[in-house]
Amino acid sequence: MDKKFQDFKKQLNKIYNKNKLYQQKMKKLNISPSDITNWKDIKKLPLTTKKDLLEQYPEGWNCVPKKDIKMYHASSGTTGKPLIVGLTQKDIDLRKSIIIEDATIAGINKDDIIQICYGFGMFTGGFSFYDGLRELGCKIIPTGTMSTENQLFYMQKIKPTVLISSPSHVMHLYDKAKELGIDVSKISLRIIRVGSELLTESMRNKIKAAWGKNISVTQDYGMTETLGPGLGMECTYEKGMHLNNHFYFELIDPITQQPTNKNVGELVVTTIYNECFPLIRYKTNDLVEITKEKCECGNHSPRIVKFLGRTDDMLKVKGVKIFVSQIEDFLFHYPFFSHNYEIIINKEKYKDILTINVEYKNNNSEEIKEYKPKIEADFKSKFGITSRINIVDNNEIPQTIGKVKRVRDMRKLEV
Ligand SMILES: [Zn+2]
Repeated sequence: MDKKFQDFKKQLNKIYNKNKLYQQKMKKLNISPSDITNWKDIKKLPLTTKKDLLEQYPEGWNCVPKKDIKMYHASSGTTGKPLIVGLTQKDIDLRKSIIIEDATIAGINKDDIIQICYGFGMFTGGFSFYDGLRELGCKIIPTGTMSTENQLFYMQKIKPTVLISSPSHVMHLYDKAKELGIDVSKISLRIIRVGSELLTESMRNKIKAAWGKNISVTQDYGMTETLGPGLGMECTYEKGMHLNNHFYFELIDPITQQPTNKNVGELVVTTIYNECFPLIRYKTNDLVEITKEKCECGNHSPRIVKFLGRTDDMLKVKGVKIFVSQIEDFLFHYPFFSHNYEIIINKEKYKDILTINVEYKNNNSEEIKEYKPKIEADFKSKFGITSRINIVDNNEIPQTIGKVKRVRDMRKLEV
């Protein structure tokens, strides 16, 4: 029996003994931990959903006595009440080592000066990176979620070599720098590490075109439920995110919920070492494409090469399933659009109407008005549905800091 499997069995026994809800789910299927004798058996175990975690709100999922919890984090709560996750000292140490691994694979070293633009609050982003990167020996500029002008002030004064933020915020910083006449090449950034939202290839290209083509732009992936960033971590070859060996991953078919042999499916994660908040077969809601091809960096763990969307973020318009990331890729294919866009869906005479507002790079969108019918025709031929595409002037769509809300679905409000 391999060591990782032994560790997993310990985790399974713990959750079976301490978590009544998961124990009940197992009993319903008539299985006990002793029935699981190898990795193949894992599919016999019940899946865990976010709803399960919230059912024992606020602290029911924590599997250690309250006195052993050293810190709390919570998910952003964009889809309901925030999920509260406890961390023991062992969890905090595990997260530190995961962040060190994540930073190292991204090419970050102890001499780097790192500006962290994630919130230092209940969200895991800020503190995770702060803890791990301090341990690695880096210098930190913890600007958190302060105003864009202030972020740029410290960037100019201290000159970070690494910027950690979300893709949309990185572009938002660039827009503001341009507006203020700041030459970003003088900041001497060498790495931009993004997370919190998915990075499409077209967005990666936009970031490089803005900040400098020699800057390494890579991403990582994680969630509060699994301690924070570092479930997936992209190396400097920029070819997708290596899955972290501290966890066990499966892909399931999003419709049947059964394991799939295809390289596309919903990612399901099992924690092996998390102490306070262990998860068995947790449905991430993220639809991903995985490759097992060897990476040039020498790390042979499978990689997430594409995010196809979230199972709960999938738009259904006129009966057609479509992901926001697909729309983004479509829009960014045109070189004259900025990175800012919004998708609005409403109903007119019982029919779904899809409207996309997208910003022109410059201030006079009138000059490319003639392209509108062509873009709408391209959209129809690509997705099979019609859309209204409005090209608006630069900075006309309000920008948000933190998680960007791209979609406004008004269908529930109107008939
Ligand atoms: Zn690699």
